[in-house]
Amino acid sequence: MLLDEQGVVRQVNPDFERHAGFPPRQLLGRRAVTLDLDPLHGDFAQAIEQSMTTLKPWRGLLLCRRADGSLRHQTTLIQPLVRDHAPLRLLVIQYDVTGMRQRAFYDRQLLERLEGTASRVPGVLFRLRQDSDGRLEFLYFSAALRVQFGLIPEQCLDDPESLLGRLPVDDRQRLETSLAQSTVSLKPWQLEFRITLPHGERWVEARATPQVRGDGDVMWDGLLIDIDERKQVEHRVQRLVATDMLTGALNRRAFFEQGEAALARVARHGETLSLAMLDIDHFKNLNDTYGHGLGDLALQAFATTCRESLRPYDLFARIGGEEFAVVLVDSQPKEAWNMLERVRQAVAAIALETESETVRFTVSVGLAVFGGDTSLESGLAQADRALYRAKRAGRNRICGPETLVQAPEAQ
Ligand code: GH3
Ligand code: MG
Ligand code: MG
Repeated sequence: MLLDEQGVVRQVNPDFERHAGFPPRQLLGRRAVTLDLDPLHGDFAQAIEQSMTTLKPWRGLLLCRRADGSLRHQTTLIQPLVRDHAPLRLLVIQYDVTGMRQRAFYDRQLLERLEGTASRVPGVLFRLRQDSDGRLEFLYFSAALRVQFGLIPEQCLDDPESLLGRLPVDDRQRLETSLAQSTVSLKPWQLEFRITLPHGERWVEARATPQVRGDGDVMWDGLLIDIDERKQVEHRVQRLVATDMLTGALNRRAFFEQGEAALARVARHGETLSLAMLDIDHFKNLNDTYGHGLGDLALQAFATTCRESLRPYDLFARIGGEEFAVVLVDSQPKEAWNMLERVRQAVAAIALETESETVRFTVSVGLAVFGGDTSLESGLAQADRALYRAKRAGRNRICGPETLVQAPEAQ
């Protein structure tokens, strides 16, 4: 459109009718602001006014009404045409951007709906990318990262170490190994790991679907779920399943499980394992004389004393009524002997007080030392034979393999 200094339409181009819906003769001679949604106070009138007084172009978005009443978004340029001795004219160019605006609007609505959905998912949505050099980068985190883990999404997007740096070394290694496997197998990826947060350590489960992209990058879209409570329960259940109710020692099943693992470790390093069987002396007498209740107390005191004399990583298990087994981890036979001797002495020093007297008891110990060429069962049988010898020799003493220098008999 070409407007005169009154803002009246003087000329329109051939496309105008299709564009505004008005036949040119209807508009020529009328003020251009007729097109505005609000012809009197609308933005169009202000824009014309501004352009005319400053003699500078005006660019902006106007909401205009077509002849049929429909509203259209028009990107508008108003360009003043200043010529010597000629009256002022304004060139108005409009592009109808309604379709684009609507698409942008729907896109925004869709995004907002997705964000809303993402915020209600019981976990953190993420997108992780590994480039062909193996570098990891997070491309997306839902807002739950802040709510559930107290981490700032923007920081973790900027620097993946803000999240990955919080994994303990072992867990970080497992994560990298399993991601590497996932890039090959392209099967759904799942991993449980710990992250250290300002308020403590939490267990997290990650599940994601990998996808290879044209440029060789691998991308995982998935979910981080806080499984700390589940892990606590699992650990409690595991402890309960693995331990004996009366003494808190490992039970038979857990002993064989963990004993096999310990044996496999020493076998790998070509070392030996020290395994001892412990059996309380004349326990039947103690039961018969003072009652089963005191017998139970004796078993508990015995277990507590053993645990105090051993190291936290040694295996200590109740494998029968008053029979216990010990696996001494990482110790030479001589060290093992000395440690068991400390146990023997500490047990002899236990004093159980009844109403009328102080009850004492002793323990006999059979030690076996063997390597990866022997099974746990036959190692245990060796220890049992050594125990039998200790009983035969008078109890309250340790017997070990003949190859081992025999320590002095109990005084
Ligand atoms: P030895 O010196 O030869 O080992 O003699 P002992 O009397 O200890 O003989 P034995 O090992 O055969 O006796 C085991 C006893 O332990 C028999 C059983 O009544 C008792 N016992 C087993 N389990 C429990 C328990 O849970 N509580 C109590 N109070 N006694 C138990
Ligand atoms: Mg026994
Ligand atoms: Mg006994």
